[in-house]
Amino acid sequence: MTLSDWRRPLAWLLAWTLVVIAGAGWLAHARLQALEDAFVTDARIVHRLLSQRAVQHDAVMAMLPLLQPPAEGRSAKVAVPLPRLPAAYPQITQVLRRLPGSIWPADWPRSLGTALDAAAARSLQSGHAELAQADLRAGRVWLALAGAGQAANHALLLDLHATIPWDEWPMDAKTSPVRVRLEYQGQAFTVQTGRRLERGWHYDFHKLLASQSQPFDVVLERDVGWSELPWASMLAWAAASAAALAALRTLLRQRVAARRAEELLRLGQVARLNQLGELAAGMAHELNQPLTALLASTQAAQRLLGDEEPDLDTARHAMGQAVAQARRASAVVGRLRRVVERPDLSGQAQILALPAAVHDALHLLEPELRRRGIAVQVDAPADLPAVRAEPVALQQIIHNLVMNALQAMEQSDAGQRRLRLALSAQGARVLLSVRDTGPGVAPEARARLFTPFYTTRSGGLGLGLSLSESLAQAMGGELTLAPPSPAPTDGPGAEFHLLLPLAHQP
Ligand code: ADP
Repeated sequence: MTLSDWRRPLAWLLAWTLVVIAGAGWLAHARLQALEDAFVTDARIVHRLLSQRAVQHDAVMAMLPLLQPPAEGRSAKVAVPLPRLPAAYPQITQVLRRLPGSIWPADWPRSLGTALDAAAARSLQSGHAELAQADLRAGRVWLALAGAGQAANHALLLDLHATIPWDEWPMDAKTSPVRVRLEYQGQAFTVQTGRRLERGWHYDFHKLLASQSQPFDVVLERDVGWSELPWASMLAWAAASAAALAALRTLLRQRVAARRAEELLRLGQVARLNQLGELAAGMAHELNQPLTALLASTQAAQRLLGDEEPDLDTARHAMGQAVAQARRASAVVGRLRRVVERPDLSGQAQILALPAAVHDALHLLEPELRRRGIAVQVDAPADLPAVRAEPVALQQIIHNLVMNALQAMEQSDAGQRRLRLALSAQGARVLLSVRDTGPGVAPEARARLFTPFYTTRSGGLGLGLSLSESLAQAMGGELTLAPPSPAPTDGPGAEFHLLLPLAHQP
């Protein structure tokens, strides 16, 4: 296979690759978009649920001053625990009320008491509960609310583990790949571990909880790996597009084959018509001699009849008629021959690029060439000047020469079949040489090759070359058999030369 044989399959492969990349890219993009949309929706739900809980904590805090402490706590020196609300709020693990003048429990770390007092002071300013201490790693959060004037301060301990509303959670916490955290000042409380990937796509979501007392950042992250791309659909698309392109290719091939068959038929019809002309030329050639002989013998008979019979006038008249008819027939035949032998194509000549005509003729015969395993070489200089020729006649000549070469090479070995078409400028003309590696032309046949009805093939008409020669001459060109090369390199072979006038004479 030569490079040009590969070019077409490669172009189809390239087209398929592009179609696959475009389609698969679109499918992957759509899947990633859907995953991102689902992630954003889940993230918004998570943010809303956690914010609702935080707001509840604020509401509980606001309600604490209304709760009655146990009787013994009314004058306690130490902050007293208030009843928890485990049924409704399991996440609230401790609630304390501290009257003015009393202290936080003595067994507490001092820092917690200080933090609660500082938060209470801020709460006095802001009028709502404030964050006193947050140990997000342990999931413990202290909130404080200051009572105005002599009113008590309140403290509340939250267990973040119990804060998550799993029953309303939008994801399956065990299997979901989404990571969910609450972040605050470099600490993080992991709500859901999810899955971390090194490669792929990454989505994230950050938004503060909608609560003044719990200013935690809700962070969601999602890594999408290559395995989550829609490989099945992408493969199906690749297969479907391959099938569609294959069908298209077959369709186009069938069209080319149909067009080629049509063209061959047309050329065949033209050939038949032209061969009919050649036939007439041959007939004229053959008929002219008997007609001349008839003329001579009737003239002789006329003279003889004039010597003997009584009805001499009638006989003379009849013979005179015969002579006149014979002359007319001869003249008609002569005229017919002149017309047929020299079809005038000069009026239909066009400016043509000979390499394109050669390419068209070879394209038409491509299946034949391939079937017979013939290697074709076309040599044409890039600056070859245009010729003046009649396109159909030119096609016919090249077609005949190539067909003859194919038929001649039927006798050569399969590996030895080479056809070379070479184009070159020769003064005021362009030369097309058609050379094959067949048996060549025998010396005794060389002189007769272009005469009508000369053939060595069993099914041959012997008109192809004489017709081609007539067509070439009618275009102001010439068709000859090249002299045999003295030292043929690849078998004897035959070489025909077609010379055509330049379109623009120098
Ligand atoms: P046909 O092909 O019908 O025989 P052509 O006029 O085309 O008529 O050819 C006449 C003869 O010339 C062929 O029968 C063959 O003997 C000879 N001939 C033509 N081309 C070649 C060729 N390339 N190699 C050898 N002989 C050829």
